[in-house]
Amino acid sequence: MRVLKFGGTSVANAERFLRVADIIESNLTQEQTATVLSAPAKITNHLVAMVEKTVAGLDVESNILDAERIFADLLHGLAQCQPGFAYDEMKKFALNELAHLKQLLHGIRLLGQCPDSVNAAIICRGEKLSIEIMAAVLNARGHDVTVINPVSMLLAHGDYLESTVDITESTKRIANMQIPPHHVILMAGFTAGNEKGELVVLGRNGSDYSAAVLAACLRADCCEIWTDVDGVYTCDPRIVPDAKLLKSMSYQEAMELSYFGAKVLHPRTISPIAQFQIPCLIKNTTNPQAPGTLIGGDNFDTQYPVKGITNLNNMAMINVSGPGLKGMVGMSARVFSAMSYAGVSVVLITQSSSEYSISFCVPQSELSCAEQALNDEFYLELKDGLLEPVDVISGLAIISVVGDGMRTYKGLSARFFTALASANINIIAIAQGSSERSISVVVENDIAVMGVRVAHQMLFGTDQVMDVFVVGSGGVGGALIDQIHRQQAWLRNKQIDLRVCGLANSRHLLLNMDGLHLDAWRDQLASSQIPFDLDSIIRFAKDNRLLNPILVDCTSSENVAEKYADFLAHGFHVVTPNKKANTSSMAYYHRLRQEATKNKRKFLYDTNVGAGLPVIENLQNLFSAGDELIRFNGILSGSLSFIFGKLDEGLSLSQATILAKEKGFTEPDPRDDLSGMDVARKLLILAREAEYQLELDQIDVESVLPASYSDGDVASFMQRLPELDSEFAMRVALAQKEGKVLRYVGSIEDNRCVVKIMAVDSDNPLYKVKNGENALAFYTRYYQPIPLVLRGYGAGNDVTAAGVFADILRTNSGKVSS
Ligand code: ADP
Ligand code: ASP
Ligand code: MG
Repeated sequence: MRVLKFGGTSVANAERFLRVADIIESNLTQEQTATVLSAPAKITNHLVAMVEKTVAGLDVESNILDAERIFADLLHGLAQCQPGFAYDEMKKFALNELAHLKQLLHGIRLLGQCPDSVNAAIICRGEKLSIEIMAAVLNARGHDVTVINPVSMLLAHGDYLESTVDITESTKRIANMQIPPHHVILMAGFTAGNEKGELVVLGRNGSDYSAAVLAACLRADCCEIWTDVDGVYTCDPRIVPDAKLLKSMSYQEAMELSYFGAKVLHPRTISPIAQFQIPCLIKNTTNPQAPGTLIGGDNFDTQYPVKGITNLNNMAMINVSGPGLKGMVGMSARVFSAMSYAGVSVVLITQSSSEYSISFCVPQSELSCAEQALNDEFYLELKDGLLEPVDVISGLAIISVVGDGMRTYKGLSARFFTALASANINIIAIAQGSSERSISVVVENDIAVMGVRVAHQMLFGTDQVMDVFVVGSGGVGGALIDQIHRQQAWLRNKQIDLRVCGLANSRHLLLNMDGLHLDAWRDQLASSQIPFDLDSIIRFAKDNRLLNPILVDCTSSENVAEKYADFLAHGFHVVTPNKKANTSSMAYYHRLRQEATKNKRKFLYDTNVGAGLPVIENLQNLFSAGDELIRFNGILSGSLSFIFGKLDEGLSLSQATILAKEKGFTEPDPRDDLSGMDVARKLLILAREAEYQLELDQIDVESVLPASYSDGDVASFMQRLPELDSEFAMRVALAQKEGKVLRYVGSIEDNRCVVKIMAVDSDNPLYKVKNGENALAFYTRYYQPIPLVLRGYGAGNDVTAAGVFADILRTNSGKVSS
């Protein structure tokens, strides 16, 4: 005997219904089969909503219409695809059920409340319809069917809405039915009957439990739970898309996983099948070929010591404390019997070793009932001050790591806690199951999903996900996105899932939590209707619980730079070639670093100086190793490197500038380069790395141009530029006479930063640096008298973008930001 159970999505429409019928039929050739069905997807939710809304005096028309449509479409589809299907009869049956439902709702409206018995009779109606319709399909295919009525055959104890089945009595009742061996057996899930013969239900998601109970009553050889995923994964695949499928697990592991929130199985499913050692197979209705996950077979999957990570949301923690707790025998027993008496389920318990307090979690929905029960039970102790007022924290979740291997593998808990710490998740309480098969932590509800993701990444070594938001899609930003696009597949092979979840220019924004398709990003961005707004990026990352959001600012905007601190505070890493933040006030400079450290995020800006040249990280490494900056000289501007190099070759200042502009080596307005401010910013950034406490206006800047040249537009400036040629020609000639060349140099020495035109001789490392190259000569405690020289192209979209790209990948390394 085999028991099959099909969940709501498996019977959601006609096509799926017929697929289920096929699966039942394919089993019939081997052995007798009993099938338990859920209500079609969404139906139970609608029924629950109808009850709740009616009690609250609200309109339920939309729920009724939706439910009607689901059944109408289902019956229609079956009439078309299943020859011989008793459409008229089924339609009449469905209409009758609906009419009865409306009557019950009318009664509830008049009463202004809904007794649990009526509630149960309403919310199980979807299951009843599923079974009638399946019986009609199987009859149409020529099979004899016996329908077990769960209300009379499954005896259950407990509440109308959450009952537990008595297997011994139910086994006898079903045996008495003497079902012929060639009959297909069908039974509605979720439903049972109490001692009085009244209908009760088994708790939301309870059809899995119905199947397990039926398997136990029939002493089945196997219980198969057919659902919408290939089996049990190491995590809910909706939360972690690359969760691993498990081949098998023990009953205990499955029990613990479902207890702590793995929705794929109802928590009470395992107990009846474990009692009779019935193996349970989880299968996918839409992918029947997949082997599924076997629970309770002989060979357990030992590939993973941890079998899964789960989250249970919407919890509250209650803390009972006070001097009266210490050493008083029976206090914990009183706490928990009060809970049990009030029907509150206690999910997790921790006690401080001083016996001074007991903390435990209950579902948020049961909190007020729990509080009331405690206040009643301990009325006297509270009055006498032996207990402190019951303390409650709401809005919590429990994250659990489950696996038989937890007992023997060392260091798993450490990795779990390290993972949570790396995402800056605060642990409110910890509990270990007495079987050592699980460890649970209590965290804030809002960050539970993030916690599950990061723990999964750490414990299963799955892909490192990086969620990138690129702001600024011009030269560098555009080149970066193209590079990312080209490199994504390669990175995937290295277990890095780098997705661009957001893209913005100064007007528009594109967002997609699974990562944008980058084939036509320019057109997509241009036609986006979402206006550019930095706060909506922060909100988006928060709403989607992104684990590793990275803001990549490829603008030169001060406004964007001013928001970095906010981004860091909201858990973003920040990567940027934009120099504005690091050259803003010293106070903001420090604040960025404090936010980064506090939130365990990185602020990386290696492209601020020398574009793709590895300047900042090298410097930081040297300083960390105890080196000190004594002196610095550098050519820090590609455009000025080009222009001054051309002066050596005999071009005039204006000719050299025109050529540089034509080749795209300058900013659109060459004065932005010739003013020396860009070099001053880079110099300031270097000086600050060396812990100089300087502001931008403390840098001495000798502009290439006199002040009067700042007025007027670019064209008129270019016209006036030849006026400076003769003076420059003289300076060049003078230098040449001494065997020197002119270079535009930034230097740091004796606590001063100076940007100026310098004549350098052939011994100077900057002498040969021209044609747009940058060179940086650091004279340090370790590097002297010969300096450490970094030299190469220090500008250009591709090299800068590659440097930004490298910084993005560095956010992933374990090092904490400076
Ligand atoms: P059914 O309607 O078939 O009973 P459910 O929606 O109740 O299906 O359960 C299946 C869902 O359980 C999956 O779609 C999946 O999102 C969720 N789920 C949660 N945790 C896990 C897990 N560890 N493995 C597989 N699925 C899980
Ligand atoms: N239909 C019920 C529910 O949605 C039972 C189930 O599907 O398991 O809760
Ligand atoms: Mg389910």
